[in-house]
Amino acid sequence: MKHSITLIPGDGIGPEVVEAARRVLEATGVEFQWEMINAGESALEKEGSLLPDRLLKSIKKNKVALKGPTTTPVGTGFRSVNVALRKALDLYACLRPCRTYPGISSRYENVDLTIVRENTEDLYVGIEFEKGSPQAEKLLSFIKQNTEETVPKDSGVGIKIISEPGTRRIVKFAFDYARANGKKKVTAVHKANIMKFTDGLFLDVSREVAKSYPDIQFEDRIIDDLCAHLVQQPSQFDVLVLPNLYGDIVSDLCAGLVGGLGVAPGANIGEKLAVFEPTHGSAPKYTGLNKVNPLATILSGVLMLRYINEKQAAAQVEKAAIAIVADGKSVTYDLKPDRDDPTAVGTSQMADAIIARLKKSRR
Ligand code: NAD
Repeated sequence: MKHSITLIPGDGIGPEVVEAARRVLEATGVEFQWEMINAGESALEKEGSLLPDRLLKSIKKNKVALKGPTTTPVGTGFRSVNVALRKALDLYACLRPCRTYPGISSRYENVDLTIVRENTEDLYVGIEFEKGSPQAEKLLSFIKQNTEETVPKDSGVGIKIISEPGTRRIVKFAFDYARANGKKKVTAVHKANIMKFTDGLFLDVSREVAKSYPDIQFEDRIIDDLCAHLVQQPSQFDVLVLPNLYGDIVSDLCAGLVGGLGVAPGANIGEKLAVFEPTHGSAPKYTGLNKVNPLATILSGVLMLRYINEKQAAAQVEKAAIAIVADGKSVTYDLKPDRDDPTAVGTSQMADAIIARLKKSRR
């Protein structure tokens, strides 16, 4: 069966890493029908929109997309193309597996963590009131009348939203992911000791959902305590489930634990749709240089293969990519012990090496 997939090249280094991943995925023998439509700065230039309607329609039709990083130009009215895309398609779960691989330099060994970040709520809902605006003044006087607190007059205000259904579905997602992927423990992360009605709700609902999964261990951690333990002994954690803001920060922290943004894959998943993309951004200064590491996008492709139930192909790509990285020869500059190593290969040559290894293993 041919899989119809929406392919979003993105901006900056996006087209190079997406093309590398596309070629690796095709080398598995799985058949794809790619529908290429862009988002971000390039889409704005060519189609007059950062997030064209035909892109949203294509993802809704195909149900799955592979995406490169996009640039959100300042002053276009969008806070972020990515946040808008996740919101438009209700991709409520951001999945970021972080694993140490031989050949990727890291301070740690045996890290195999999965971050499940809530994508639609929290301080990212975009409800903010500018200092001095009539709305902010109205809100401040409401706070004065209804609480014991006095907010300083010239304050900007942002609203943190944590809902019961939003928490229930993300925590359930984390437990279902743990169960389906042989993970043993889910840790809910919060600051419920301070934010009783938002993070407190997140914690209460997490505890309640955990009762339906007696086969998976459950614990909770306060966000600051979690950060200290993550840098001391990351291997004690398995699946972390977090509200949006903590999830954003902890995802990058965990990418750092396993060798940096260039090697960290990701996915944004909703009830029926999913968009797979690397954690890193569009790194504009490397555009068109055939220099950056395609691994994060290739591993995002592995997540996509699993999602579309091509598990054998997923295992083959992962194995071939890990082998090339461990071998250390045909890898990009960032995976060489010395970043100026003249033997570093380009983005497409690293993909070629993975394809050659993949084909050898399939013979
Ligand atoms: P970035 O991830 O693009 O780059 C930061 C640095 O990380 C780069 O200079 C480079 O040294 C390194 N890096 C990133 N990807 C790499 C790779 N594949 N191989 C080797 N090294 C790599 O972050 P930034 O500079 O903060 O953001 C640049 C643009 O990307 C911004 O416009 C931002 O909004 C956008 N962005 C998009 C996404 C997305 O589309 N999902 C995510 C993050 C940032």
